[in-house]
Amino acid sequence: MAVIRDTMAEFDLFQPASIDDALALKRRYGKTSWALAGGLDSLDWFKDRIKRPEVVIDLSAVESMRGIRETDDADGVEIGAMTTLTEVAEHAGILSRFGLLADAASKVATPQIRNQGTIGGNVTQDTRCWYYRGGWPCYRAGGNICYADTPTAINREHALFESNRCVAVNPSDTAPALVALDAKFVIMGGGGEKVVDAEDYFITPAKDITRMTILEPGELLTSIRIPGTWAGARFYFEKVRDRQAWDFPLVNIASAMKVSGNTIEDIRLVVNAVGPRPLRLTDVERQLKGQSVTEEVGQAAGELALLGARPLQHNAYKIPLMRNLVKRAIRGTGARA
Ligand SMILES: Cc1cc2nc3c(=O)[nH]c(=O)nc-3n(C[C@H](O)[C@H](O)[C@H](O)COP(=O)(O)OP(=O)(O)OC[C@H]3O[C@@H](n4cnc5c(N)ncnc54)[C@H](O)[C@@H]3O)c2cc1C
Ligand code: SF4
Repeated sequence: MAVIRDTMAEFDLFQPASIDDALALKRRYGKTSWALAGGLDSLDWFKDRIKRPEVVIDLSAVESMRGIRETDDADGVEIGAMTTLTEVAEHAGILSRFGLLADAASKVATPQIRNQGTIGGNVTQDTRCWYYRGGWPCYRAGGNICYADTPTAINREHALFESNRCVAVNPSDTAPALVALDAKFVIMGGGGEKVVDAEDYFITPAKDITRMTILEPGELLTSIRIPGTWAGARFYFEKVRDRQAWDFPLVNIASAMKVSGNTIEDIRLVVNAVGPRPLRLTDVERQLKGQSVTEEVGQAAGELALLGARPLQHNAYKIPLMRNLVKRAIRGTGARA
């Protein structure tokens, strides 16, 4: 493992006050630069001296990337990427219409981390695989081995799905909620603004093993728009972790469901920490539409959700865990198996 030196390597620090200035810096310094949001992921890398950018672009003075606004789309909201997780969790409009996201944000880490961590940083953060974060030269770090997928590896927190050389998972709690809410991510770069579906923001190692999102070096995530489509739906978020504070999810689930009587009219169901990106269970969603909310339907959905799961030596426990979370999301309550 790398020695934690606790002193960062030198870099040039820029503190732009506008998106245009931040993008100009990104363009000028490209891959040698690093966007700094709340710093909770970034500063770990810097202090361990594993990532050593020459230029750090601190976004904290870019006012237009902060705050939560209503949008023209009825019931929709737009959240600046630099808005803190606490602001997201406590915002009245989000609580009343998109409680799923408030719930997910409120379950991240600790109050101190939520006060400092931003929604943009939370969805853009790197994986927590400790081999990689400890500086081991694995595939993701440009090497030619996955240390988490060897006969003696410690891989309790790693992936069940979509592995490709790398078996690391996406650790975000807000990401599955945003995919379930059909959020749109606003990205700005040299080519202007582009807006992508939340589920297309995250990528697998098959596409690029060195990053977790589609963001290119010259781009910034500037905001996240949540359309009114799922406002006030029946939501469910549950996160299973080793301890009730600090810990990243072992598995989490986010669902948005439109129910008429006891019949599921529409549903979006997303699980995270089981693969390199939030896993939208589209086959399960399709099967559930038009069905009644019953124990048997939940059971069948849980089984279908697990098709294709490939456990490693130490993470097979995630299979019954995920199956039960799917059942609970459909039932709308926790506890009973
Ligand atoms: C001890 C600990 C426990 C944690 N537990 C949890 C948990 O349980 N659940 C959870 O979901 N998270 C957890 N986190 C993650 C944390 O909540 C932060 O969300 C995360 O570390 C990054 O957010 P940040 O604002 O600090 O971003 P930073 O650390 O500054 O940035 C993270 C990454 O995103 C990039 N980035 C940030 N903003 C932008 C932007 N607008 N445009 C382009 N790139 C950008 C940065 O360049 C960097 O690569 C934990 C972190 C710690 C340290
Ligand atoms: S799981 Fe991915 S990040 Fe972890 S050691 Fe393997 S290649 Fe590296």
